[in-house]
Amino acid sequence: MTTQAKRNDVPLYIKVHEHDNVAIIVNAGGLKEGAGFSCGLELIEFIPQGHKVALRDLEQDQPIIRYGETIGYAKTVIKKGSWVKESLISMPTPPELDQLPLAGQTIEPFPPLEGYTFEGYRNQDGTVGIKNVLGITTSVQCVTGVLDYAVKKIKQELLPKYPNVHDVVALNHNYGCGVAIQAPDAVIPIRTIQNIATHPNFGGEVMVVGLGCEKLQPDRLADQDDILSLQDQQGFTAMVATIIEMAEERLERLNKRERETFPASELVVGLQCGGSDAFSGVTANPAIGYAADLLVRAGATVMFSEVTEVRDAVHLLTPRAVNEEVGRSLIKEMKWYDHYLQKGEADRSANPSPGNKKGGLANVVEKSLGSVAKSGTSPIAGVVPPGEKATQKGLLFAATPASDFVCGTLQLAAGMHLQVFATGRGTPYGLAMAPVVKVSTRNALLEQWNDLIDINAGTIATGEATIEEVGWELFHFILDVASGRKQTWADRWGISNELSLFNPAPIT
Ligand code: CA
Repeated sequence: MTTQAKRNDVPLYIKVHEHDNVAIIVNAGGLKEGAGFSCGLELIEFIPQGHKVALRDLEQDQPIIRYGETIGYAKTVIKKGSWVKESLISMPTPPELDQLPLAGQTIEPFPPLEGYTFEGYRNQDGTVGIKNVLGITTSVQCVTGVLDYAVKKIKQELLPKYPNVHDVVALNHNYGCGVAIQAPDAVIPIRTIQNIATHPNFGGEVMVVGLGCEKLQPDRLADQDDILSLQDQQGFTAMVATIIEMAEERLERLNKRERETFPASELVVGLQCGGSDAFSGVTANPAIGYAADLLVRAGATVMFSEVTEVRDAVHLLTPRAVNEEVGRSLIKEMKWYDHYLQKGEADRSANPSPGNKKGGLANVVEKSLGSVAKSGTSPIAGVVPPGEKATQKGLLFAATPASDFVCGTLQLAAGMHLQVFATGRGTPYGLAMAPVVKVSTRNALLEQWNDLIDINAGTIATGEATIEEVGWELFHFILDVASGRKQTWADRWGISNELSLFNPAPIT
């Protein structure tokens, strides 16, 4: 434990940008009144880990600067060395969407990264999978109980006979009936289900279990040969037997597939964060951003998301659009979401969550500035509306809510093979059909959850590793997981969250 002792011995803070007038406390457990830093700064009160210290005296209404950007204004005089609490900061208004530059930032292109490969599965439609999973789609929630019963039997009785198939996954959701299926926004949940049914990790095998009378008719999801309607069956036993029979045909075909070598450019990687803290933006997210740049340089597709967590930093993103059309698409998604939140009278202070605030994030502006760090520095090549498939390479913005489960579901619909997930407070989140690589923002989280965290970026805060080193480690880990050489902790334990559809349309 000498490293831990050493880490905690010396008071440390992280200042991100030269203009910043606040910094965050690194030391686990926080620092006491009187703690002195090498620069001469002394704390005049206790400050918890991840929370902000004033680097100089701040006048009332003076901007509070972190990441070189205004995260709020001082509500009162704040003395140098004191705790800049959430209650002392008033929130700025979000950037005006009609005044933003649409493109035009010159981004020095990095040289392409060649020679990196992974072992994947070739699909007939030209895509590549990284897992070999039987996915069983549902057209309505009514079938969930029957399908879960059948899937349990399939896993126990059939799956051991097909060792090349990793899993059988019931794609349960709460859509399909009792919904305004013609409403304009219904297109989002419908195309999400359609696109997940043909996810690249399912090897081109489609199977849909429906009821028969639902609004989302199963023929909108698959061909007749791939559909089973429970209302056509003679009782429960026959339903289960038919599901098992259909599954076995597909398991036989999936079992014959073998991994082959593909360039890293075939990968589709999704990025998100959950349970964020003040370290997210200085450790995990910049390391993820570095790995994202490496993936983009290798020709892969990388998606970042979470509209509500980039909204307040959108002025940093629109200039990175490859052209004005992409810049306009980005703004269009932001406007759609602004309207969606206004319609629901959403409260801007609902994000960050109580846990985020405990971790030192004062407001959504500070959270956003840290969140966009995971997009790296590449130009933004395209925008994917919610539920649509990503069809291009490079860095894309996939417009999704920030909710972990909804973002995960929409990134799956976009064709994500694998997700990289930054967490500071800790979450056991996982997805059944795609590996989730969890990156911790702090050493303490790795120590607490060493059987859930895959990559630790906390070493960046303590100076034990650089952003580049952790970025490369993550990049190699992604290729290993994609190749089946390594497993994420969530996959090892077999823990996952249900799909969670984004349905902005009315329920009837
Ligand atoms: Ca999230």
